[in-house]
Amino acid sequence: MAQIATAARPLLKIRKLHKSYGAHEVLKGISLDIHEGEVVSIIGASGSGKSTFLRCLNLMETPTSGFMDFERFAFDYEQGARRQPTPQQLCELRARIGMVFQSYNLWPHMTVLENVIEAPIRVRRMPRRQAVAEAEALLQRIGLYEKRHAYPSKLSGGQQQRVAIVRALAMAPKVMLFDEVTSALDPELVGEVLALIGSLAADGMTMLLVTHEMAFARDVGTRTLFFDGGVIAEDGPPDAIIGAPRSERLRQFLRRVLHQPAALGETA
Ligand code: ADP
Ligand code: MG
Repeated sequence: MAQIATAARPLLKIRKLHKSYGAHEVLKGISLDIHEGEVVSIIGASGSGKSTFLRCLNLMETPTSGFMDFERFAFDYEQGARRQPTPQQLCELRARIGMVFQSYNLWPHMTVLENVIEAPIRVRRMPRRQAVAEAEALLQRIGLYEKRHAYPSKLSGGQQQRVAIVRALAMAPKVMLFDEVTSALDPELVGEVLALIGSLAADGMTMLLVTHEMAFARDVGTRTLFFDGGVIAEDGPPDAIIGAPRSERLRQFLRRVLHQPAALGETA
């Protein structure tokens, strides 16, 4: 019995999450359970709060109110925050919930290898030899081992983005957050980044990804959330959400995304 209960326990539990900037309420009460191995795509119009939500999950943004439970972390921002994280907990949390953004933000003055080993050495206190060995293994996996001593500016956008993903993986995260990681890429480079994310999904990595790649969301995702005005307006299997949208708002959104020439080019 106990084992069944443990398996059913969500990896990430979010309740009544709100985020305001001044008088502008961006997240209006998000409640969500994420289970291990789920690959959750997040879709929705620009400004609907998708990025803010991901940033709240690894506490790059402090929620205005709400409750989050993840592994040994439980943060309660209700009523002036009784259980807020310490700086040490923040550091540990961000190692466990990795995040990659639209603009590959590699450190330009460091080589590929240095970019990947920096945080494991500094934050996880990993011996340099071990950090290098693990980084090299990760770079092998993505076919960029030969580029390990190159500076980011010598790499294509797709290669840089793949290194940014590997840099997050080097922290041994339990969850990965991807915020439109292919949006800034030339269309011909999108595929290699999606392939890497797809391989992580196949390995069972739990992830949440904001994406306009509807075909990818359907192929790789196990669940899709439609954000609308700071709430989760629809939540279900990708085929149902994208293939058979219930609300007119989602139908409108899908028509726009699927008929944008750029979006079409990206999925081609
Ligand atoms: P999405 O990722 O869905 O496009 P965002 O989460 O980036 O949406 O933004 C949602 C809303 O929050 C937007 O109106 C945006 O202007 C506002 N917003 C986001 N970040 C900030 C910030 N740091 N300060 C003030 N307003 C912000
Ligand atoms: Mg965004």
